[in-house]
Amino acid sequence: MTKEIRTVEYVVLPTTRAKGRKMFQIAGACRYVWNHFRENNLADYQAFRKGKGQRPQTSFFSLGVEFTKLRHETEWMQELPANPVKHTLKYFADALKETMAGKKGFPKPRSRKRTAPSFTIPSSAGVRIRKVNEKYSSLLIPLVGWVTLTRRGDNLWENGTPKQAVLRHDGHRWRAFVFYEVEVEKKLDDGEVLGIDMNVRQVATSDGHFYFLPDLKKKEARRKRYQRRMARQIKGSNRRKDTKKKLAKVSRKIANVRKNWIHQTTKEIAGKCGTIAVEDLKVKNMTTSAKGTVENPGKNVRQKSGLNRVMLETAFGEIRRNLEYKCGRLIEVNPAYTSHTCSECGHAEKENRKTQARFLCVSCGYASNADTNAATNIRRLGVAQLHGEERSGSRQTPLSREIDARLHNG
Ligand SMILES: [Zn+2]
Repeated sequence: MTKEIRTVEYVVLPTTRAKGRKMFQIAGACRYVWNHFRENNLADYQAFRKGKGQRPQTSFFSLGVEFTKLRHETEWMQELPANPVKHTLKYFADALKETMAGKKGFPKPRSRKRTAPSFTIPSSAGVRIRKVNEKYSSLLIPLVGWVTLTRRGDNLWENGTPKQAVLRHDGHRWRAFVFYEVEVEKKLDDGEVLGIDMNVRQVATSDGHFYFLPDLKKKEARRKRYQRRMARQIKGSNRRKDTKKKLAKVSRKIANVRKNWIHQTTKEIAGKCGTIAVEDLKVKNMTTSAKGTVENPGKNVRQKSGLNRVMLETAFGEIRRNLEYKCGRLIEVNPAYTSHTCSECGHAEKENRKTQARFLCVSCGYASNADTNAATNIRRLGVAQLHGEERSGSRQTPLSREIDARLHNG
């Protein structure tokens, strides 16, 4: 048995006006604190970049001292719970660390309009959840009170220890993401490895199975129609507001279909086998530029450009993350050449891939579905890597880092 973190998503049922208002106030305070610290650190950061001045402080602790001062001076903030607001600094400190490490740019401001209102109840505040009955639970929000939670389907982890909760308003209602620490039985490693090839609308596994994303064409067409309609309508008009609501609704539906599909698919795949091999997304995203792939320059331009590509990357990341915690072990392999190499004889040539769907080896004549062939290659690379890893010992992720990684991605 090992301890791991599992996230459960709930819908927060409408509550009294006073409670609702307070929740928005807490989220507003978090935004205020973020922007305050951003502004405070921006000048230091710019000076440091030019070689003048000191390196900005990036630790949660040093920022915390500054926060206590700010809270003391700001009257309205004293009526709000300290811990959730202070936790914003944890996110800010993490973002600043990434900036200093050269991984990302300076943290962006949080806007009232564009950033979803959210706040976190950290473990330091103590996350309290009560089960009311089969359908409902309640969650204690500091200085707000108990709110009622519900969700479709069971919560498999209700016996776990709630460590942290994130509340986020999606423009329609509040949702609560509760992070439970749970005891899970390590899946028995049966020595079987399954290779996974991820695609825009399907996932192929090395045992020849396909998982197809439900058809979203109608919903996506409707979303496009609303987007165009909204662009034509006058800002601030009631008609535009109406369209905006409809647009948000259909976008939510699309997101939900995708989310459920990912959940179901990864659950089925994880049920098959203890070790999964996937393509390393960092490498894949780097090599899959808008101009095409390293293997295939100039292709996939339309398909992979702009928003579509961002969406794709998050979908792949989501599948990977789900597989990671549902399976016993996840191996990442270098994605280069997996689509052009023959899984039978190892002959690698662009000509092998006749069309998007068909694979026919020009050397040995092996014919297969192109994605199944790729999945088989990914599996082979995974097995090879596994044997290398066993010699050097495997690595473990600490719990707190696991929570943070999920928060940043979710
Ligand atoms: Zn071949």
